[in-house]
Amino acid sequence: MAAHQEKKLAEDRKHQNMQNDTKTSQGQWGRAWEVDWFSLASILFLLMFAPLIVYYFIMSCAQYQCSLTDPLLDLVTGNKHLSDIWNRTPMLTYRAAAIYSLWVTFQVFLYVSIPDFCHKFLPGYVGGVQEGAVTPAGVVNKYEINGLQAWIITHVLWFANASCFHFFSPTIIFDNWIPLLWCANILGYAVSTFAMIKGYFFPTNAKDCKITGNFFYDYMMGIEFNPRIGKWFDFKLFFNGRPGIVAWTLINLSFAAKQQELYGEVTSSMILVNVLQGIYVLDFFWNEAWYLKTIDICHDHFGWYLGWGDCVWLPYLYTLQGLYLVYHPVQLHTAYAVGVLMLGLLGYYVFRMTNHQKDLFRRTNGNCRIWGKKPEYIECSYMSVDGTKYYSKLMTSGFWGWARHFNYTGDLMGSLAYCLACGFEHMLPYFYIIYMTILLTHRCIRDEHRCSSKYGKDWKCYTAVVPYRLLPGIF
Ligand code: NDP
Repeated sequence: MAAHQEKKLAEDRKHQNMQNDTKTSQGQWGRAWEVDWFSLASILFLLMFAPLIVYYFIMSCAQYQCSLTDPLLDLVTGNKHLSDIWNRTPMLTYRAAAIYSLWVTFQVFLYVSIPDFCHKFLPGYVGGVQEGAVTPAGVVNKYEINGLQAWIITHVLWFANASCFHFFSPTIIFDNWIPLLWCANILGYAVSTFAMIKGYFFPTNAKDCKITGNFFYDYMMGIEFNPRIGKWFDFKLFFNGRPGIVAWTLINLSFAAKQQELYGEVTSSMILVNVLQGIYVLDFFWNEAWYLKTIDICHDHFGWYLGWGDCVWLPYLYTLQGLYLVYHPVQLHTAYAVGVLMLGLLGYYVFRMTNHQKDLFRRTNGNCRIWGKKPEYIECSYMSVDGTKYYSKLMTSGFWGWARHFNYTGDLMGSLAYCLACGFEHMLPYFYIIYMTILLTHRCIRDEHRCSSKYGKDWKCYTAVVPYRLLPGIF
């Protein structure tokens, strides 16, 4: 009887939390309803310059040995004209179009056609059909979590080809890198444009759409919250994970193969980059179900920012270190390599443990142990749009007592390690840490703005107890 009552109470609590999330999030989730001039200016800047930035980085490797300043100097001094650089840039080829089409089709096939089997034999792995967070319209989407399986199948086939079948060279990605860039752009623009048209004319869930009326803003930040085709093809989960993150490790492997072909060896720096980024990618797929609860899925709409970003920005700029090392094969001193490895592993540990602590704390409603003790927290309340009061908790112990976004700090430590693995000769490999610092600092501010309007004075109490964002005592 007592057990029955407890179960009912737990169910009531779960139901109340769901309602709670739904109602309050109406005002707080996602992107803005109205566009201020600063957001519009930033968006126009990104729409115009982000594709050029990607092109500039890749071109400077192909034509200027990864120097970021030489192309500019050549142009400024009149040594070269834009047309000279453009004329030396490989164009779209049938071969690249065929490789890219096959690649995307294969990933779509793995995503929609093979239900997850990994969760049946991997202890602790959460896969198969999982529920996402409640959307503002009160929908709980179901997702087929099979990214780990797709990653394993793709990589097993890659290694089988490299070692036995030899249907294609493992350098295939490097060898077609710029023609593939045009293909990735075509897909990125096509999917973003399709998502916009779909949002206007046949949205998956009209109540989960936001339209500001400003074309550029809506195109960039997206209209639909969770666009889908059919029951299972979810744009956000597919595009972020599959053409983007499954490709990440394959691209690095192709760069390593190119080093082997050019220099007869794979350098320690290339191995380090492959290993550290490989851990990060595997972690993403191992925790794909957890990813359903992150800001990307819970708050962002699907527009150019995610569509083009996942197809082009992520695979091309997150892999700059490997590309750089093809042109500059850096051999690291053992002690230095071990230092970079330690930094990368420590960063990964902090990143994972911080995320894990919050996940455990929230899942158990604080009834857990963090570093061997009961967690400390601040009780906070917030009001839904209909004026009902609800309660939540913000943890102030463990890594969450050190800083308010210590998970980002871990991420940044890992990112720095990838860059340090490339030595100090050029700026280009350091783009990643600069970009991640801007991205995650902006994310801190965005998230805190939302939390502050959600929790009001309780958020102030929390920030008084945990005063720093990323680095205790500094920021
Ligand atoms: P978080 O996982 O940090 O989630 C933020 C939310 O957690 C807040 O909105 C709040 O939600 C809740 N929260 C905040 N403080 C506390 C606390 N003290 N106790 C309990 N709950 C709290 O944010 P993200 O989704 O941005 O990040 C997830 C991970 O993904 C990070 O590790 C990040 O580094 C990584 N990432 C990597 C990127 C890459 O390109 N490599 C890009 C973006 C993220 P609520 O309203 O529920 O209270």
